[in-house]
Formats: sequence, C-alpha cells, structure tokens
Amino acid sequence: MLTARTLSGAAQVRRSLQPIQGKYAVTLIPGDAFTGIGPEISHAVKAIYAAAEVPIEWEEVSVTPVLKGGKTVIPDAAITSVKRNTVALKGPLATPIGKGHVSLNLTLRRTFNLFANVRPCVSIKGFKTAYDDVNTVLIRENTEGEYSGIEHEIVDGVVQSIKLITWQASERVARYAFHYAQANGRRRVTAVHKANIMKMSDGMFLAACREVSGDFPNIAYDEDLLDRVCLQVCQNPRPYADRVMVMPNLYGDILSDMCAGLIGGLGLTPSGNIGRDASIFEAVHGSAPDIAEFGANPIRKIGKGLANPTALLLSSLMMLRHMNLNTYAERIEKAALSTIAEGKTITGDLGGKATTKEFTDAIVKRL
Ligand code: NAD
Repeated sequence: MLTARTLSGAAQVRRSLQPIQGKYAVTLIPGDAFTGIGPEISHAVKAIYAAAEVPIEWEEVSVTPVLKGGKTVIPDAAITSVKRNTVALKGPLATPIGKGHVSLNLTLRRTFNLFANVRPCVSIKGFKTAYDDVNTVLIRENTEGEYSGIEHEIVDGVVQSIKLITWQASERVARYAFHYAQANGRRRVTAVHKANIMKMSDGMFLAACREVSGDFPNIAYDEDLLDRVCLQVCQNPRPYADRVMVMPNLYGDILSDMCAGLIGGLGLTPSGNIGRDASIFEAVHGSAPDIAEFGANPIRKIGKGLANPTALLLSSLMMLRHMNLNTYAERIEKAALSTIAEGKTITGDLGGKATTKEFTDAIVKRL
C-alpha cells in the first residue's frame, strides 16, 4: 500500500522553508507546451491544490530552450526561480533523439547538482494489477554515469561514449540511500550493478557503497547484478519491499520503468531529484507525445484529455513531504488513491474511460 513513509524524502536534505504571508513559493515548470502532456497534467495538479487549499504560490516558468553564445540553454528566469525557491515541480520535457540540443532534464539536474533521483513504485490498494504488493524504492545516481553526455567520433564509423563514475558522486548517492533507508524504515540497501563487466566503473561505485555501509551498522547491505534484479523483481517483487536499491544513472532509468509496469504503468510513478541546495520533483514518465495534442494552445485548450496526472500529483506529494507539509500530502493522496481504487472515474491508461479533467474532478470531490 502507498504510505507516507515510502514517499517521504530523507531527513538529511529536507527543506525547512519560510512561508511569505502564509504561502510557500514553489517553481512550476509545466513542461513542453506544444508537444507534450506537461501543461495538461500540471493544470490538473494546480486544480487539486487549489481545491485542497494547499498554501503554495506557484511561480510558473517556461524552460523552452534559448540560444546563448551558440549553445541551447535554459532561460535565466527559470534558473533564478528554482535557485530562489529551492523547490520545484516539473512537467516532462522532450529530448530530440540522436541529434539536436542536449537534454534539458539533464541540464537542470546538473545545474542544481540534483545528485539523487528517488523513485518509489508502490501498488495502489484496491487497483488490480499483476501484483498487488509491489513496494520498491530505487535511488539512481543522477549526475553522471552513462548520462555524462561525453561522446565523440574517434574515426569514421567509430563512436565513443564515456560512462563517467566518480568516487565523490557514488559515495554521495550511497550515503543518501542509507539515510533514506533509515528515515523510511527500510532495513536493507542493495547496490545494483554490472561490475562483472564494467569492473572499474561499477567496481568503484560498489566500493563506495561498501565503504558507506560501514557507517550504518543497523542497515543490512548487499549487492546484486542488474539483470538478475530485473528477473527477480518481475517474478516476485515482495522481497524488495524492505529495502532501497541504489545504482548508477542508466540502470535506474530503465529499472524504474520496468517497476512501473508492475503496478499499472508510467501514469502512476513519481520521483524526486534531490540536491543540497534545491530539489525538483517530476513524474518518471516523459512527455507522452502519442497522447499529447500537438500545437494545442495550453491556455485556450489543454490537451486531448487522455493523460493521467497521478504520477505528477504523487511527485508533488513527495515535494509537500519534503517541505514538511505532510497533512496536505496525506489528504490529497487519500483522495487520489481512493479514486483509482474505486475504478469508476479513471483514465484510459488505467483501463477507464474518464478524461484528465473528469478524473481530476473526481479527486477534488473526495478531498
Ligand atoms: P513516455 O514516458 O513519454 O511515454 C511512454 C508511454 O507511456 C507512452 O505510450 C505514453 O502515452 C504513456 N504515458 C506516459 N505518461 C503517461 C501519462 N501520464 N498518462 C497516460 N499515459 C502515459 O516515454 P517516451 O515516449 O519514450 O518519451 C517521450 C519524450 O519524453 C522523449 O522526448 C523523452 O526524451 C522525454 N522524456 C522526458 C522525461 C522527463 O522530462 N523527465 C522523462 C522520460 C522521457
């Protein structure tokens, strides 16, 4: 079952923000305006927050890339807003495949040094899927690894892509994983790797995890191969409910989508990108262009009504808990999960017929 404990951030970097006139300023990056579902699901979250009277003042900024000195960058206004507020909710941003500008998602993670990506994946009680007791938490190193973006053509027909692993980033994410386990009542940390093949890079990641484990005698520690974990989680996810899995960047990206498939899909899985100076919360899923309305004006008309806003909503609840606004998070979570469990007003990805707005309204009614 989805519980507050499984969704909270580690106390280590939880924010203690000061409200201004009773409200907390939070940056909202709705996501791609013309090619993705970001604005549509952000709109749903805003409607639910307004109905629940959450004391948040959204500071909405666009991250539509701009050209600066020949490079594609995120507009200064967005960077300044996240820096000032230190907490942001973000809709998905598309990344061109095989060419074009670098991923703005990666740029944001690097700009704010959001070193740990926390991805809980928990079955919704009453909503029937292949398993009804999935409860995995995966923590992904978020700044380097296979996503370091260092690629070059050595000679014609030969490309080199560098997987960068540093002791510092590995140690930092490992420590975060142990703190998270401690703060959330999980008894074990499993480092997931391919150090049988990538002996030096994943080998160093494991060595850092092992060293950090010595500082947490009350948390058990073990290591497992990525491929074996994939098989085991699919065959029987139950043993993973008592632990936190920590791993290099790419493995976490893929494994979390696989876990999402066990509980009803990407429409349901949240995440938080945690840093020391700022944190950005976002759904695990991408911009879902196949169900987005291309060219829709997000102000006059928002989307096709096919998108499920739950993943972004649950991400925002991780954010509320990170900000110590737990009471609001619990109330909204209860309304959202009971709407899904009842199954009458759910979106197409969950097997229902409701539009994004109908689903959002059903949650609001249960608040
Ligand atoms: P995707 O996650 O956007 O979509 C995968 C499938 O899941 C699609 O069939 C989609 O319709 C469905 N889906 C996803 N979210 C849904 C929701 N909320 N409700 C209902 N169905 C949903 O993955 P993709 O198609 O591989 O990626 C599309 C774009 O998103 C790419 O440009 C990619 O780079 C980008 N992306 C961005 C982020 C991010 O912003 N953090 C994350 C992943 C992918």
